[in-house]
Amino acid sequence: MDRPLIYAACCLAAAVQAQPFQLPTANRALFAQGGEEEYFVGTVGKPWTSGTFGCVRSGGWQMHEGIDIRCLERDRRGEPTDPVLATADGTVAYANRRPSLSNYGNYLVLRHQVEGVEVYSLYAHLREIRADLKAGEAVKAGEAVGVMGRTANTRQAISKERAHLHFELNLLLNNRFATWYKKTFPGQRNDHGAWNGQNLAAIDSRAIFLEEQEQGAKFSLVSFLRGQTELCRVLVRDTDFPWLRRYSALVRPNPRAQAEGVAGYEIALNYNGVAFELVPRAASEIKGKARFQLLSVNEAEYEKNPGRRLITKRGSRWELATRGLNLLELLTY
Ligand SMILES: [Zn+2]
Repeated sequence: MDRPLIYAACCLAAAVQAQPFQLPTANRALFAQGGEEEYFVGTVGKPWTSGTFGCVRSGGWQMHEGIDIRCLERDRRGEPTDPVLATADGTVAYANRRPSLSNYGNYLVLRHQVEGVEVYSLYAHLREIRADLKAGEAVKAGEAVGVMGRTANTRQAISKERAHLHFELNLLLNNRFATWYKKTFPGQRNDHGAWNGQNLAAIDSRAIFLEEQEQGAKFSLVSFLRGQTELCRVLVRDTDFPWLRRYSALVRPNPRAQAEGVAGYEIALNYNGVAFELVPRAASEIKGKARFQLLSVNEAEYEKNPGRRLITKRGSRWELATRGLNLLELLTY
């Protein structure tokens, strides 16, 4: 079910800026009628759809958190040479120049402020990252930040044929990720601090580009986020966590909780675990003692997009799966 907009239009109007995100390479086939084959690179032996965002792999059970964009230019050896372009004005958050340390290979993360929302774009499998780019450096939309490549540390290398830019748009789950990860997965390596893929909640960049193209200056990222389809609704007993401050545009007012005091938050999650609507709840509105509660499930959405395995059905009862609990732990840590 698509949730209706609940906010007065006047609150949005002032913050909206035209076309906040630009395509991250010169490939524009995304906007051409039937251009998908020229735009997306599928996985080995699979159609272009497996290079789009979502539960598009392993029969829906594997999530692809970005889009895989086809190269347009190659050198004499057949290696891609397409410049990779910043999708929006921003600053460098992280550059990994040690490809053996990530399945993303060489990757770059940029931080953007769009309508007061902190968004992180990620560019992976790069052949090289522009040498002068360091954390904190400012970049302009459309500026070349690296070169497309096929770096990765996966057992199966990316072939020349399949060379592509893996591009993501993300929200950041928790700036204290590194501490949480160490506590939750003792002994496991995390070479990238907060810039680990597990800490980045991806949103559908293909849908955003297409909506921008269709709506022009009317496009709003906040509306896009508020319009996500709900997979499930959960209640957390925590009242202060970074997402509330970083994504305050997604918090709905609740006069009763404001009057009585906030005892927890009711959160709508989309199928990728993005908390796109948060409602403060008073103690008098909360049943049950558990720190995390599953309040409702949109079964149709789960059938369509189960890949993150956030929830599971045990007999006739839905419950939060380990991954769902981990997500809520990290979100509220
Ligand atoms: Zn990819």
